[in-house]
Amino acid sequence: MEHLYAPWRMEYIGGTPEPGCLFCRAREADAGQDRHNLLVWRGPDAIVMLNKFPYNSGHVMVAPRAHVGSLEDLDDHDALALHQAVARALGVLRTELGPEGFNVGVNLGRVAGAGIPDHVHVHVVPRWNGDTNFMPVLAETKVVNEHLERTWEKLSAAFSGAT
Ligand SMILES: [Zn+2]
Repeated sequence: MEHLYAPWRMEYIGGTPEPGCLFCRAREADAGQDRHNLLVWRGPDAIVMLNKFPYNSGHVMVAPRAHVGSLEDLDDHDALALHQAVARALGVLRTELGPEGFNVGVNLGRVAGAGIPDHVHVHVVPRWNGDTNFMPVLAETKVVNEHLERTWEKLSAAFSGAT
């Protein structure tokens, strides 16, 4: 049951990583790449992306514009922007997916489970009663990809409508 204790620990395992920082690359990319990058919202000082290996439906990562490794490295402006983006994500997910709760958490350092330790990011994981079977159900890559596509369409539309 370790995954229940820290559901956001399962990030970016396997596959060939693209060069550079995932969050900086997604933020700077052309909007046409947003679907590929699973980017659902691009604000001036923060972004929201779907996790490619979601613990649960609607699992997003919120990253500040600043490429820094830890929360204490953010200045007040970027810290506020990150918090506001997390709040925005909670609001959109609550409206669109109707979860009964959330896990919100930050992994600092690889030893703590951070897959991208150089760019601090907040995991927001919607939770429902009896949702612990999600990963086994979505174990097949094809199913995960189809699920991510649908979730991306739903959430990117919702985020842009929530401006
Ligand atoms: Zn970065």
